[in-house]
Amino acid sequence: MTLPALGGTTPLQPPAAERAPRTKRTYGGPLIDMTGAVDLHCHPYPDLFPRLADDFDIVRAARDAGMKAIVLKCHHENTVSRAYLVQRVMPGIRVYGGVVLNYYVGGINAAAVEAALRLGGKEVWMPTVDAGYHAQVHGGTGGYDAQAGGRTRAEGIWVTDSDGKLRAEVKEVLELVAQYGAILGTCHLSPREIVALVREARDAGVEKIVVTHPYFKVPNFDMDALVEVAKLGAMPEFGYCTVSPAWAYAPVERIAESIRRIGASRCLLVSDTGQRHNPLPSEALRIFAQTVFEKGIPQEDVQRMISANQLDLLDDEAEFVPSPEDLAWARGLVEDPCADSRLSPPRG
Ligand SMILES: [Zn+2]
Repeated sequence: MTLPALGGTTPLQPPAAERAPRTKRTYGGPLIDMTGAVDLHCHPYPDLFPRLADDFDIVRAARDAGMKAIVLKCHHENTVSRAYLVQRVMPGIRVYGGVVLNYYVGGINAAAVEAALRLGGKEVWMPTVDAGYHAQVHGGTGGYDAQAGGRTRAEGIWVTDSDGKLRAEVKEVLELVAQYGAILGTCHLSPREIVALVREARDAGVEKIVVTHPYFKVPNFDMDALVEVAKLGAMPEFGYCTVSPAWAYAPVERIAESIRRIGASRCLLVSDTGQRHNPLPSEALRIFAQTVFEKGIPQEDVQRMISANQLDLLDDEAEFVPSPEDLAWARGLVEDPCADSRLSPPRG
C-alpha cells in the first residue's frame, strides 16, 4: 500500500545546506541559476480551478530547485494560514501567503485585509476573476473564457466609481497595506483603474506596488501606458502564464522590450503557474527567465528580476527552521507502513 502522499517519495528532506551540494553544469551555455530565486505568484491546489499540484508539492519542488521563497496565491481564499502550515514542516525555503479581494472574502473588505496582514500576509491582491473589468472581458465573474471556476455573476467588483474616483473602502485597504508595509497587487482591474489605484496608493504611503501580469488578457496594458505606470512607482510583474503555449497572450519579445524601457531594477519575473497546461512554478519560472535571457536581457538583470527584486519586496531574511518534532510528525504522514518488512504479507 502506498499512502496518498503529500507528494512523491521524500517530501520533507533536511534543509538544502545539510544535503549534498547539487552539481551545477551549464552544458555549454549560460544557464539561469534558480538558487536563491523567489516566486511571488503561483497557484497551488486547493482552488476552484483544476490545479497541477497542491501547496506542499509546489513548495517542495521550489525548495528542491534551490529557491529561497515562494508566495502562494488563491482566487478563492486567503493563503496566509496555508503558507504558515506548510512552513512549519518545510525546511529550506520561506513560504508566504496573502489575500485576493474577490467575492469569496467579501470583495474589497478591510477586515479581511487586516486579518491577513496581522497573520503575516505579504501581499494584498485586488480582485482577479471577480473584478468588474475581468467580467467585462471574460463574459462574467468567477472564471475565464477558457476555464470555468467559481460563481458567475454579470457584474464584478470595480474599485472606482462612475467618476473614476477610488471608492472609500479601497482607500481603507490601501491604508492597511501602507501600515503593514505589504505588497499591493493590481490583478485584473482595468488599466484605467490601475492608474487611479497606483496614484492613490502612493499618496496613502504604499511603497510596494506590483502591476500583476500586465500583458495577460486582463489588464492587457499598452506598453507606453505600462511605462507610465512604472514611472508612478509600480513594478510590472511579468508571468510565464501570460506567454504559455495554451494562452499565449503576449510574445516574450514584448516583455523583453518592456524590461529594456522600464529597467530591470523595477521589473519582476514570476511563474503565475499552477494550471495543468503549465510546468510547476519553479520550472516555469526557470524556463521564463531563461527565455527572457535568450531574448537579449543580460544574465545579471534576469537574476535580479527573479531574486533580489522579490526579496526587497518580501523584506524578510529570516530563515525558518522547523522543529524536529514537527519534521518527525510530517515524515510519518508520508511513510509507507508496508515498507517495513515485518508488516508485509508473506510472499509465495
Ligand atoms: Zn495568477
